Amino acid sequence: MPIYEYVCLKCNNRFSLLQSLHPEEKDTECPQCSSRDVKKVLSTFSCSSGCGDASSASAPSFGGGGG
Ligand SMILES: [Zn+2]
Repeated sequence: MPIYEYVCLKCNNRFSLLQSLHPEEKDTECPQCSSRDVKKVLSTFSCSSGCGDASSASAPSFGGGGG
């Protein structure tokens, strides 16, 4: 199960919960103040080198013919 991060709009508490693939914000409450005013936030993860090269420059090699 993935971990989702939430931030409470009432006490600005940031917490993470183990939820199903498609959790709903209304079903999530702050563990600190038990408020339902939470907002799902994307967990920031750093993408170091080797995170998938979208633009791989592979130029075709032309063979000098002649003849
Ligand atoms: Zn709260």
